[in-house]
Amino acid sequence: MAIEFSFPPEIEDVRQRVREFMQEEVEKAETDDLWSSDNRRKLIETIFKLRAKAQERGLWLPHMPQEWGGMGLGPTAIAAVSSECARTRLGSFVLNCQAPDEGNMHTLLHFGTDAQKEEYLKPLCKGFKRSCFAMTEPEVAGSDPTLIQTLAERDGDDWVINGHKWFISGARGAHFAILIARTDPDAEVAQERNTAFIVDTESSGWNVVRDVETMSGSHNHCEIRIENLRVPHANILGRLGGGHELGQVRLGPARLAHCMRWIGQIEMALEMMIERARTRYSHGSYLSDKQGIQWMIADSGMELYAAKLMVLHAAYKIENKLDFKTEVSYAKHHVAQTLWKVIDRAVQVHGALGYSTDSPLSGMLAQARWARFADGADEIHQMRIAQQLIRAHERNGSVGSAVGDLPL
Ligand SMILES: Cc1cc2nc3c(=O)[nH]c(=O)nc-3n(C[C@H](O)[C@H](O)[C@H](O)COP(=O)(O)OP(=O)(O)OC[C@H]3O[C@@H](n4cnc5c(N)ncnc54)[C@H](O)[C@@H]3O)c2cc1C
Repeated sequence: MAIEFSFPPEIEDVRQRVREFMQEEVEKAETDDLWSSDNRRKLIETIFKLRAKAQERGLWLPHMPQEWGGMGLGPTAIAAVSSECARTRLGSFVLNCQAPDEGNMHTLLHFGTDAQKEEYLKPLCKGFKRSCFAMTEPEVAGSDPTLIQTLAERDGDDWVINGHKWFISGARGAHFAILIARTDPDAEVAQERNTAFIVDTESSGWNVVRDVETMSGSHNHCEIRIENLRVPHANILGRLGGGHELGQVRLGPARLAHCMRWIGQIEMALEMMIERARTRYSHGSYLSDKQGIQWMIADSGMELYAAKLMVLHAAYKIENKLDFKTEVSYAKHHVAQTLWKVIDRAVQVHGALGYSTDSPLSGMLAQARWARFADGADEIHQMRIAQQLIRAHERNGSVGSAVGDLPL
């Protein structure tokens, strides 16, 4: 049989080791006081201590090749590791596979010159530096990167950049940014207008204005003003005019990486829902005996099951160098929706406790909301999926090739 639904023993071993490490070390270190803004120093020290322990256990950079100090895992194995990490808040930071550094590492590995890799990728892999990815602008729709207004103009060996970005995750404390700016406003093909630059955030002209407050508090998603920022020509990442393509290469696997983390969160929320339903008593029986509650549990299970299959299938396509864009769109849309729905149901079953900050569910729900529009809004993925289905029907008179191209 060609279809195999289990991991080979060496990957199952890694998954188990990550799960044990998360339970034995990370969960225990995540004390409630760690999240207070007064305890930032303690938080950073905790991450560094845990990172040392993770490295001792050979758990470091699951997504990077061994020559870069990583575990050299493929996308399907990373799916397993990431969903284990996501059962804790610090898990992915501890293994140095957190967004946006993980996506930036992939991007530098794929597009960087040897000199760029040495200067920027190496310290990122060692965990000495952090980075951010700066594309979205408040003035234009982030869903359509061809509208980017941040302008880079050539001046001798440098580019001079002016513009405005926001929601740049991890910008405070990042040592460098991968910045997308317009270099050829008149390019006939809109996708050829933008270029990616590596920017040292110490440079004059890179100004962090504020950490944008969100419905779940401040999480280092920053607004940046870029004023006469000089960047050497050698800091172009990829080719001139290749910013759009670079974004696409980066975003496919990065979107899936989010899905992998969200699966861990969905599973946790469903387990909490069941735990509560099994122990909360009302009108003569436990909540778990009520059909209304069982439907919520069943719907969540069905959606989680489909989410896992979609993520694994998209990861399989990436791993086997097959066209994966539509599968990633299916997965991104479905998993983001499922994350929201399952956490919401878990809040429902917990009643007032779920709504309170005594339970992690309220925080998880507020965090889950952005999943439905960041890294491709639901409607953008629906548009892409519909385009592929229509095209497949036009070409073949059937939709099979646009529904995962499965042998069914
Ligand atoms: C927590 C978080 C972290 C982020 N981190 C980063 C980061 O590190 N770097 C970065 O560059 N950006 C980041 N972003 C920004 C994110 O990528 C954008 O929010 C996203 O691309 C959507 O852009 P927008 O917010 O401008 O919404 P818009 O593009 O204005 O879209 C708003 C809504 O309009 C609808 N819509 C848009 N286009 C269409 C269409 N063609 N058809 C139908 N409906 C449509 C959708 O409902 C969409 O939700 C982050 C955002 C969040 C919330």
